[in-house]
Parts: sequence; structure tokens; C-alpha cells
Amino acid sequence: MSFKLPRGTRDILPADMSIWYYLESKLHAVSRRYGYREIRTPIFEHTEVFSRSVGEDTDIVAKEMYSFRDRGDRHITLRPEGTAAITRAYLEHRFDAQPPPVKFYYYGPMFRYDRPQQGRYRQFYQFGIECFGVDHPAADAEVIALTTDFLEEIGLEDVELQINSVGCSQCRSIYRQKLVDYLAPHREQLCNYCHQRFDSNPLRMLDCKKVECQEIFQYAPEITTVICEECHKHFSDVQRHLQNLNIEYEINTRLVRGLDYYTRTAFEFISSALGAQNSIGGGGRYDNLVEFFGGKQTPAVGMAMGMERIILSLHEQKQFPPHDNLQVLISAEGEKLLFKAMELAGKLRKYDITAEVDYTGRSLKSLMKYADKHNYSYVLIWGEWEQKKDKITVRNMQAGDQEELSEQQVVELMKRTTCMQREDK
Ligand SMILES: [Zn+2]
Ligand SMILES: [Zn+2]
Repeated sequence: MSFKLPRGTRDILPADMSIWYYLESKLHAVSRRYGYREIRTPIFEHTEVFSRSVGEDTDIVAKEMYSFRDRGDRHITLRPEGTAAITRAYLEHRFDAQPPPVKFYYYGPMFRYDRPQQGRYRQFYQFGIECFGVDHPAADAEVIALTTDFLEEIGLEDVELQINSVGCSQCRSIYRQKLVDYLAPHREQLCNYCHQRFDSNPLRMLDCKKVECQEIFQYAPEITTVICEECHKHFSDVQRHLQNLNIEYEINTRLVRGLDYYTRTAFEFISSALGAQNSIGGGGRYDNLVEFFGGKQTPAVGMAMGMERIILSLHEQKQFPPHDNLQVLISAEGEKLLFKAMELAGKLRKYDITAEVDYTGRSLKSLMKYADKHNYSYVLIWGEWEQKKDKITVRNMQAGDQEELSEQQVVELMKRTTCMQREDK
């Protein structure tokens, strides 16, 4: 019998981990710098947490959730996104009673029964932030600035920021009517997806990527021409803040975001490395979500991005993370020197060096082959011949040369090298 991965999932193998560690360390660091604190919610929640907030008629809830009944007959769903669960936690732990803003970030796997394609998996990792309690446009700009910092710091190039306003509940309903009036004569030409959304949520049609629909939408009224005065002011203030921070953006009036709870600011980061499916993340304001959960009206703004798509973009751009720790392999001849080698490895690890002792007894030749293949920076050879002279042979794998040093000198050299490597980062 042979077992295989479920469709749409994948193993992240040891050789691929360094980019994950790198991105994870950056997302923690950048979030903390902006005063966001990490929150970890469970992988699964009561199904209503998502069906209530994300919306029964969305693809996520209607088709993509991993839902089941547990042994206690509860309706359970593997989280398809982060915001709903965090809003649940915000209210459950009475963060709404604390002075605003309440700022969270989160990171972890999400689950959607989506059609697998390049950079899209059924279990995928998301990094997101949420800022509750402030309706000031500066908060929107801060969320965008944090995201921009993160993308810059990981070295992702050619990312375009698109922004829009989707208005508030009042002005959006006016827009919805205008859109429906415009589209009514074309209803039969729209795709099935759009046809279904025509009555339930016409705004979401604008998300449709089908050419026949895009052609019709081309001349549809733009939401920014309809939004109310306050929404308009909010939108232009967000832009003033972005300009002040030298963050470049494009206004995309077709950007509506797929979820019901969004209000006012909507934004998306587009990577040119990814071709047509090019969004790597986005977010916006969701001033109505806390109320959906039974809390009092609470403004909020947030962002989420998919790590797999970021990694894919980095690979496309041939951007790789800086090297891992210095890696050292120690080869000892005979039992007595093996004991000493184990001790030496311990000394090196104190300096955060990856030190391993080769206890396979393989020949020097196959040891070198092995060390080369596994990217060791140094091989330390400690044989009877070296022992007689109280030395260790230090082979620099990259330079391809070697020297004989005392044990103390070896420790000093490794310490120096690892410090230099760290400063390079
Ligand atoms: Zn409005
Ligand atoms: Zn369509």
C-alpha cells in the first residue's frame, strides 16, 4: 500500500524551510515594530463564526469550507480565513472594553476546498493584521505601511498597491442600485456566476474575471463617483497619508473585495511576478463586522496575505533568503576523539553555530562528498595524525582550502566567522 498527500496539500521539506523561517521572522519583527501583538486562535471554530460573517452566499462559505460534525455533534469548520475568528476572540475576551486601538497580528494555516493551482493550496499559510476601534484614515494607512514594509524587507520587487473605497452601508446601497440598473439590460450576457450574484450581491460580480463580463463592466458606473461625502473624505485622507509616507498606489475603482463586511478602504497588493493570478494579499476596512458578531459598532481595518504566493513570487524573482547558520561537520577518528568531538560541537553550538559530529564512520572521501552536498561551511577533521600535533584540520568547503589549528583557535575562528555572517544579513 502506498499513501499519497491529499489533493491540494503539500509537504514543506527541510530544504525549503529556510525561506519560511526567514519570512516568519520578518513578519513577527515588522508587526511588533508597529505595535501589533500576536494572537493565536484555534485551527477550527464553530461553523457559524464563518458562515455568519463571511456570508452564506460567498464561494468560501458555500463551496470551500472544510466542515464536519465532531463526536459531540457540533458543527465545526477548519478556518478558511483569519478575520472572523479574531473578531470572535476580540469580543470573547472583552478587548472591546479596552481603550482603542486594539492591534493584533496572526500567522498560521488556513483551509479552503479550492481548485489547486500554482501557489494555491487547500491548506495555505496566511499572515494578517487587524486594528480594532479606530475609524481614522491614519489607521488604514498604517496597515498599508506595515504591509509595504514587510514586502520591502523580504525583497519582493515590482509590487503594485491598488486602492479603492467601497463606501459605507448607506452609499453602497445607492451604488448597488445604480449598478443593477446599468447591468439589467445585459443580464443575459453575464456568466453563470454573475447571473447568480445579480440579485444576492451584485457588487461581487465586479470580481468576475471572465472576459465577457469584464467587457460589460467596463462602462459600469464607478463606485467612487457615488460614495457619500464622509466616505469620500475618508478615501482622500487615506491617500494623503499614503503620499505623506511616500507609498505609491493606483486607484482601481473595480476593486471591491469579495467579502460582505468590508467598508470604505479596500486595497490589494499585486505582484507582477505572478502573471494573471497576481494578487499576493490585500485588505481593507470592515466597520460592520464586530456588530455582525453581536458587539457594538466598532470600526476596524486589516490585511491578510498568502505566504505560498509570496514565496512563489520571490522564487520567480530569484530572491533567496540569506544563508542559515554556519554549518560545521566534525569528523573524529576512534572512540576517544569522538568523545572530544562531541564536546567541541557543544562549545560551537553555544555561539548558535550548527555543529554536528559525524558518527557514521564513513571514509574521508565520502565524508567530503556528503559535506559538499549538504552545504556545510566547514569540516573539522580530528584524526590520530592531528591529535599527535594537538591540532585539528579545518577545511573551508567554499574556499576549498584547509589549515591546521588548535582546538581553541578553531572555536575562535568559527565564532568570528559566524559573527561576520550575521552582520552581513
Ligand atoms: Zn458612505
Ligand atoms: Zn461573470
